[in-house]
Amino acid sequence: KQILKTDVFGKRYVYMDTTESTNLEARYLAQQGAEEGTVVVTEEQAAGRGRLSRGWYSPFGKGLWFSLILRPDFAPVEAPKCTLMAAVALTKAFHKMGLTDAGIKWPNDILVNGRKLVGILTEMSGSMEEISYIVMGIGVNVKTKQEELPEELKLIATSLTMEGIDIERTEAFKIILESLEHQYYEVLDSGFEETLNEWRQLSVTLGEEIEVRAPGNTYEGVATDIDEDGNLLVRIPDGTVKRIVAGDVSIRPR
Ligand code: ADP
Repeated sequence: KQILKTDVFGKRYVYMDTTESTNLEARYLAQQGAEEGTVVVTEEQAAGRGRLSRGWYSPFGKGLWFSLILRPDFAPVEAPKCTLMAAVALTKAFHKMGLTDAGIKWPNDILVNGRKLVGILTEMSGSMEEISYIVMGIGVNVKTKQEELPEELKLIATSLTMEGIDIERTEAFKIILESLEHQYYEVLDSGFEETLNEWRQLSVTLGEEIEVRAPGNTYEGVATDIDEDGNLLVRIPDGTVKRIVAGDVSIRPR
């Protein structure tokens, strides 16, 4: 049965009832030569991860827990922008499903009214000169209900169901993969500029007073923009603009 309208994303896919983490599986497959667009999807993850080894809650049958293998032929310094690209594609997919309140918290979370709907974890392998592969792990809370959330997520997580979007996981998956593929080929064809502009439009971080906790340093200021590499620009009270590199920090509203 042919339901995906994508050309590359999800044409090869590995489905598992359960796994430690789809990123681990996908990295293994990528090392074995799995081609671009290969998707690893599971019903549950025993050890799903966020950034900085934080856990990702991935209960059986409740979400889209998947990883996507990319092999773009651009320089490794461009790789962090793939996370921003994915956030743009996913947010547009949610808007299409009718969830117009979804927005992006720099760099990689998708929030609805301050609660996290999606986590994205991008991992790259390669040299300074060349990307061997990128594995993009994406976790979307779809069917989780408020009362099912573990205590520590009750106030900070949300799901499509909790937001009143009644959609089957397969249908949501189709819309998301199509949106990711569309955004990726736009980037390959025309570069990141337009995608970064869309990111600015969809961001809930820009213009906000935030606190940035980088290793050894905490800044308070206003998130003014992202630069052409996707780094966050924060204007601190003395007027200096700090450049925050993705991956190093967590931010929170002040
Ligand atoms: P951060 O926003 O701090 O960068 P990560 O992207 O590393 O977070 O994701 C991990 C964090 O997300 C966890 O520490 C937890 O607070 C939260 N979290 C874990 N599982 C879920 C989930 N299924 N839905 C929403 N938030 C989650």
